[in-house]
Order: sequence, then structure tokens, then C-alpha cells
Amino acid sequence: MRRQWLERLRRVVLAAMLSLPLAAHPAAADAPAMPSAAAFDALLRRLDYGDLIETDTAHQREAVAQLEKLLPPGDAHRRRLLDAEHCTLDHLDKVKDGYAYADAHLREALQAKDTEAAGRFYYCRGGFQESLNSPQDALADYDRGIELARQCNDDPLLASGLQLRGGVYSLIGVHGKALADLLEAQHIFLQNELSEAAGQTFLAIGIAYRRLGELDKAREFLNQSIEHEQRVGDRESLFVSLVQLGYAEEESGHYEAALADQERALAVANATADRGNIAAADLAMAGALNALHRHAQALEKLKSAEEGFTAVGDVADQGMVWFQRGRAYAGLDQHAKALDNFARAEAAFDRSSNTRYQEMLHQAKAQSLEASGQPAAALEEFKRYLKLHDEVERQRADQQAQMLREQFDSDRSKLENARLRAEQALKDKQVENLQRVRQWQQAAMALLAVLLALLALLVVRQLARLRNWKRMASIDPLTGVANRRGVEQFAGRAIRRARAGREALAVLAIDVDEFKRINDSLGHAAGDKVLRAIARACQESLREGDLLGRIGGEEFLVLLPRSAGSHAADIAERLRKRIADLSFREIDPGLRVTISIGVAELTPPDASFADLERRADAALYRAKAEGRNRVVVAGLLPAEPVRSAALAPAPPRQPEAG
Ligand code: GH3
Ligand code: MG
Ligand code: MG
Repeated sequence: MRRQWLERLRRVVLAAMLSLPLAAHPAAADAPAMPSAAAFDALLRRLDYGDLIETDTAHQREAVAQLEKLLPPGDAHRRRLLDAEHCTLDHLDKVKDGYAYADAHLREALQAKDTEAAGRFYYCRGGFQESLNSPQDALADYDRGIELARQCNDDPLLASGLQLRGGVYSLIGVHGKALADLLEAQHIFLQNELSEAAGQTFLAIGIAYRRLGELDKAREFLNQSIEHEQRVGDRESLFVSLVQLGYAEEESGHYEAALADQERALAVANATADRGNIAAADLAMAGALNALHRHAQALEKLKSAEEGFTAVGDVADQGMVWFQRGRAYAGLDQHAKALDNFARAEAAFDRSSNTRYQEMLHQAKAQSLEASGQPAAALEEFKRYLKLHDEVERQRADQQAQMLREQFDSDRSKLENARLRAEQALKDKQVENLQRVRQWQQAAMALLAVLLALLALLVVRQLARLRNWKRMASIDPLTGVANRRGVEQFAGRAIRRARAGREALAVLAIDVDEFKRINDSLGHAAGDKVLRAIARACQESLREGDLLGRIGGEEFLVLLPRSAGSHAADIAERLRKRIADLSFREIDPGLRVTISIGVAELTPPDASFADLERRADAALYRAKAEGRNRVVVAGLLPAEPVRSAALAPAPPRQPEAG
């Protein structure tokens, strides 16, 4: 009986993908169609996941014909999607052909790297595998289809695959995995607002929960399933849902509710005049009636059930008929008849190796054996019941654990994904911050470099300025020759060198004659010009290595290293003559300027430059005294004049005043 329901369930589940007929619905194909990708996609979506999954085969074939017209010419991808529809619809009763069709198209789609189409052909081939071989054989195809759907982020395609795989797990009794797949499928359908497709998952989820002993959940989903099936007019599934709800109520101890549900199921079966379903409903009602101790009515129901099953040639539920009949006789205290029916049921249940049925059977059989005075056999039977009970409980616990594990795994992977995303976001943020820090660092370094460059420039300038200052400190600003400090510095070095190298060193003390009068008559500025001209002229007449310095108003000093007294006197005479010959056209064409020079040579008694200078000064003084415009060479103190008169051809002509 239940196996038959599973078969029906299978059809319901498959209907989502294979678009099997369920109930009449208005089809989509009426208006004339022009090729259009958008219209094609919209209609295909309705056919796969929308309202058209509820329609019958004829309407779906119409929709596929419409898709042919909408298909844009040369669109290979959509051609494959359409072929995937043909894959199921064209081979409903030609399973082998369908398998070959799916297989060939799958290869082509894989070759073309058309992931979406390949996923659909995997599902189609899986569907045919289920019929041709066994449900397990379909799992590999569904797995691969699911993988592809995940790869191309096609949510509805993924949900379809999960729904198909969940159906297989449900069929083979792996309810934990079934539930995990089906719940995910439903979640995805709802997220994508595909309520029709989502509605088709309620029944399978409800059954899986029931099998796991989660009766509250089972009733919740089965009620939703019933609501959905009533709304879309899916009476085939509605029947299954009602029977399943009745069982869930019965297992919950709600026997009246169970009986009411089975009566509704029977009404649906009668409305569709489905003989097999009517028989199934009768059988289910018998179970509820037995639970309510209405055993006579149960026996009546079992009679009509047996007739119905025989009429449609269904032997799958015969074991359950015998079992319920045994329960009814036991309830009526007819234990011999009960045991007889239990024995037949046992053989049938052993063939199908249905542990849950076997468990129920041995419990009921033990009670009948005990009631019929066979305590030893009853004990044996009871032991077998306990063993099976443990096994059933263990299986249930395993499957619950499996479901929790699946959910845990999927929750964990969701958490893991969320964690990875958060981590990535954090990393991005860190990278961003690092980049910002680096930008700041670079800016700071650039700034530092600029500052350092500025500092270096400042240092260089400062050094240059310092050098300048030093230089300026020893230079006479008016004439540009050395000042007294410069002269003294040079003299110090020159004397040390002269003494170390036993070389001569001479000094010329120069004073401009009657300079005051130049100033007075031509002005101070003209006097400055004259001083500059004298300095320039003297400088030009000197060798490199000699030093000219201005040590007072109109007084100059010349240091002549490596020059002995006589040579120095010649140089002095040359200077005197040069100045005397100077013309000052730009100041006053008639102006003549002369200088007087005292010459002194470094001698061992000179303790310092001051001594040498003093002797030169004394010689100069004498030159002045002797009439100016002349050179006097100093002897050892006091200085002696030389060639003074001879070298002084004419007294200086004084400038005219005004
Ligand atoms: P002599 O040396 O021949 O005895 O006569 P003198 O007129 O040159 O001597 P004195 O020392 O009396 O005069 C020097 C003058 O030089 C006085 C001063 O006004 C002038 N003098 C000093 N320094 C400068 C200067 O820097 N520029 C100008 N134009 N005149 C200066
Ligand atoms: Mg003077
Ligand atoms: Mg003078």
C-alpha cells in the first residue's frame, strides 16, 4: 500500500521536472507567436517552474509547440532548453528512447559547454534511469545536474535537482537526506517566488517528516500540501496528502482525526473514480477504525479494499490488508483467525523486509499468542518485537541525525560563507586602510624629502653666507681689496712661511697725498672713486701671491712675499708712477693724484707684523716729509729714504676747487 503511495509520490515529484499531467489548467499557447527570446524565456519559466507545471500533458505539449514558434532562429542555447522539454514530454511511455535522447543531447550540451542545458539533460536522463534501472542509479545524474546548476547560479534549476534527488532519497528510505534536499529546494523556490514549484515540495517534505517521527512537522507540511493541491486542483496529490495526514494523526494518537482524514481521502478517490485509490482509502480507514476499536467496520472496509486491489491487480498492499484483518479479529477476541492473518502478513512483510511493518506485526502477534494461552511463543514474539522496535528507533535516530547533519552542514557552509565574506570584506578594508596609510606615508616621505631638500638648501645657503660673511669680514667694501683684518691674516701666514722657508717678505705702506683736498674740492663721492681707481691700478700692477689691502681712509698696505727690499722698492716705484700717470677723466680731466710709499723688508729683529708695519710707516712718514710722491725704503729702525727725489719728478698737481 505505502509502496504504491511512494510510486504516486514519485510521479508528483517527477511532475515538477518531467511535467507529467496532474490537473487541467489553461495552457499558454493560444496567440500567434513571433520569435522572441524574452517571450520564449517567460513561457519556458512558466512551463518549468510556474503555473504550467500543474497542467496536463496536452496543455504542456501546446506550450512546447508555442516555444518552437518563439525560438529565435540560430539560438543554439534556447534550442537545447527546448530539446530538454521534448526530452521528457516526447518520451513519457518510451523510456529507452527517452534515455537515448537525453544521453545524446547531454553529450552535445556538455561539448558546447552549455551548463544550463546540460543540467536539464542530466535531470532528464536521471528520470529515465529511475524507470529503467533503480532510483539509486538516478542519483549520480541528479548529483551532476545539481553541481552544474550551482556552477551557473541557476537557482530554480538547482531546486529542481534537489527536489528530484530528495524524491529518490525518500523512495529509498533515506529520509534525513531527502528532507534536507527537499527543504532546500522549497526554500529556493520560495526565495525565487516560484510558489507553484514550492507547493509541490510540501507533500514530500511532510512524508519525510512523518517517516522521521516528526509528527507535528509532518502534519504542518501535509496540511500546507493539501491547501496547495486544493487550490491548483491537483486531486491525485491531494489524495496522497490526505492519506498521509491520516497516518500522521493516527501515529499521533488522534484516531478520530485520522478517520476523518481517511474519509476525505476516500471522497477524493471516489470523485476521481480511481479504483486503486478507493481501495487504498478503504485500507487506511480500516487502520483508523481498528485504532478506535471499531473492528467490525474495519473488517467491512478491508473486504472492499481487498476487492478493489484485486480488481486493479495490485498485490503490493495485500500484506497490510492481512495485518489489519488480524488486528480486527484480535480486537474481536478471535485470536486463531487473527494469528492466521498475522502469519500471512508476516510472510508478505518479510518479502518486502519492511521493518516498521514487521515491528507492528510482532507486537500484535505477541498479544494474540498471549491471549490464546501460548505464553512462551508470545514471549518469543515479544522479544522479536523489541528487537525490531530497537532497530526501527535506531534507524529513525540515524535518519534524524543525518537530517540534522545535512542541515548542520548546510547551515555551517552558509555560516562559513558568511564568515568568508566578512573576512574578505575585512581584508578589503585592511588593504584599503593600508593603501591609505601608504599614501600618507608616501605623502609624509615626500614632505620630509622636500623639508630635507629645503634644509639642505638652507644649510648650503647658510654655509655660503657664512663663507661670504667670513670673506666680507676681511674685505673692504669700498674697493673690494682686503681690509685691515684680511691684511693681518695674510701677513701672519706670510711671515710664518717666510721664516720657515727663509724667504724674503716686504711691505709697502701707501698713503694718498693731499687726499683731503680732493675730497674737499670734488666731494666725498669723487674721493671714493679715486680710492677705487687707485686700488684697481695697484692691484693690476701686483703679482699673484701679493696682497693689497686698504687699512685706513686713504691708506693702503701691500704685502710682497718672496720680495727682498730692493725688489720691493722697484715694485713700489712702479706703483707710484702708475698712480701718478692715472687719468681721472670721468671725475675731473685735470686731476692728478700721487701716492707716497714706505718700503720695509722683514728682518729677524721684527717680532711681529706690527714691527714690520711700523717700519714701513716710518719710511712712509719720511716720504711725506720729504715732499710726497716718492718711495722711501726703511732701513733697520729707523728707516732710511732711497731715491726719493730722483723718483719724484714732479709734485702732484692739485685739482682746482669748485
Ligand atoms: P697727506 O696724507 O698728503 O699728508 O694729506 P692728506 O690730506 O691725504 O691727509 P689727511 O690724513 O689729513 O687726510 C685724509 C683724508 O682722507 C681725510 C678724510 O676726509 C679722507 N678720507 C678718509 N677716508 C675716506 C674715505 O673713505 N673716502 C673719502 N672720499 N675720503 C676719505
Ligand atoms: Mg693719511
Ligand atoms: Mg694722505
